[in-house]
Amino acid sequence: MFRYILVLFFLLISLSLQANQLKIDNCQRDNVFITYKDSLDYTRACQAIETIINIFKKYNFETSEIIKISFQEKVALEIKSLDEQVTVDEIQVYALYNSATNEMLVSQFNTPYIQSRKAFDYLNVTPSMHESIIVHELAHRFLHLYYRDFLNQNNPDHATHEFFAYFIQINALNSLDQNLVLALWPESEFTSDLSINSLVHGTHPHKFGVMSFRYAISSDVITQILEGSFYSGDQILTNFI
Ligand SMILES: [Zn+2]
Repeated sequence: MFRYILVLFFLLISLSLQANQLKIDNCQRDNVFITYKDSLDYTRACQAIETIINIFKKYNFETSEIIKISFQEKVALEIKSLDEQVTVDEIQVYALYNSATNEMLVSQFNTPYIQSRKAFDYLNVTPSMHESIIVHELAHRFLHLYYRDFLNQNNPDHATHEFFAYFIQINALNSLDQNLVLALWPESEFTSDLSINSLVHGTHPHKFGVMSFRYAISSDVITQILEGSFYSGDQILTNFI
């Protein structure tokens, strides 16, 4: 009897180890690496990649550069000292794009941290919201590559990046979640291109995101960004700071 219990014990241990093992797969694309534990995270990452590839195909841009997404239990943003030498603090974030390693780090969906978080400060994190956050990070990666390889220009400024990434993210939501997001901060709107700047983003990033979507659909800013001819408030600010 004891032997059977022992066999059962080891069987259970090995099954739980397998379930927790990190897996790497490529969404059937040569340039994609997804590291994950939960296969639903993997499926959402593949769908997000499909979405961003199709968007940029419309702008005649395709890339064979590496697309790397790692799902983690905890994604930490390191706060460095002024000389960038030591990490003085870290904060847990939903996701981030590390342009030094070209890697996107995304929190696993099925964790107490994500389930306790609110999307856009007020809304439940649904699978559609989760996938849209992956799309947001991919939008940063693709815009960076598009400027470098298609326009042969420097990476756009921070405010332009966030404007673009939020527009693409909110556009990718299912209609139910999109309506909930666009009902937030109903009075807030950008009044000019200059008001699209890092100060406004830094004060309230998600509100900046909703304002970006509203401004984008009533202007040709997205076209200007893709032509490399957009001037955000950041470029004016840098002349003053
Ligand atoms: Zn962003």
